Amino acid sequence: MATGKRGLPPKSEGRGDFSAVQPDPSQVGGVAEAPFLRLPDPTTLFTDRAARFDELAADHPLGAYLGFLATIVRAQAACVAALPAPAPVPADSVSLRTGQGLPPIACDQIAGNADFAATLEWLLQTLDLTAAPEQARATLAGLRAMAPADRVLLAADIIEGSYAAELVAESLFLAAALQVHLARLAITIDATAITPPAGSTCPVCGGAPVASLVVGWSPANKARYCACGLCGTLWNYVRIKCTVCAETQGIKYFTLADSDAPASDAPDEPATIGVETCGACASYIKHMQQHADERMDPFADDIASFALDLLAREQSFRRGGINPLFLSF
Ligand SMILES: [Zn+2]
Ligand SMILES: [Zn+2]
Repeated sequence: MATGKRGLPPKSEGRGDFSAVQPDPSQVGGVAEAPFLRLPDPTTLFTDRAARFDELAADHPLGAYLGFLATIVRAQAACVAALPAPAPVPADSVSLRTGQGLPPIACDQIAGNADFAATLEWLLQTLDLTAAPEQARATLAGLRAMAPADRVLLAADIIEGSYAAELVAESLFLAAALQVHLARLAITIDATAITPPAGSTCPVCGGAPVASLVVGWSPANKARYCACGLCGTLWNYVRIKCTVCAETQGIKYFTLADSDAPASDAPDEPATIGVETCGACASYIKHMQQHADERMDPFADDIASFALDLLAREQSFRRGGINPLFLSF
């Protein structure tokens, strides 16, 4: 695993500056609490992620696929720069949904939404997959030929959590467009209106987590966050607690270093990435020590650590999170 072995360009300025989109952290005894939410910064989210994919692709068994995804993520970054910001989620819609305990972004911000249709169209038409495998080029050509309204409806299914088995290849491109649109939409919402979710899905868009991170930024140092697989929001989540069934008993951790040894009960092992398993529902999620390497990305590092998925499956655990960039695994 790549953990700080090669020099990446420094993180884009502003990545750590989320004060403008966060509720004021409450003060307890003069010490700031970890904020409940960290909304994404679309201007740096995809450029940083593409750099991480590029870094991890070198000398990796999945290097070709990681490099292919770097191409897609760079197109996502270019899309953010090229298209005007989407129209904000109407305040009355936000208050209506949050008043019912629901995330403010819903399927109806996708289906029939002209800004999302434009984002999807731009990505599909701009992506240059000349160096990609023939299957990927054929999938892209098929989506380009599809009626825009039809492919928007397919994408709307994804935000509902429905990934059709026969559309796994298409879902990669549809989810890429969703990630761009939803990250930009998320920052139009007044973060103070968003309430903690009852379950373990994204409080902004209802998406499933892709992975969990122990972060290193202030004032949340060493706090745990779940990373949304769609809009990119991070939300604070109690440590040693299953992200699928919320059980707190029977949670264990292992890393590749433990692969020949019994699972550890200690969540703070020195490895930067491991797996959190739940004995109650037999699910697992990647657990990343991002505080030890700020370049870690929940999507790229999840895929690059596929050996952990193999180990988890050997132990009969099923994947608890969803990585829309790696659905076929
Ligand atoms: Zn989300
Ligand atoms: Zn569980």
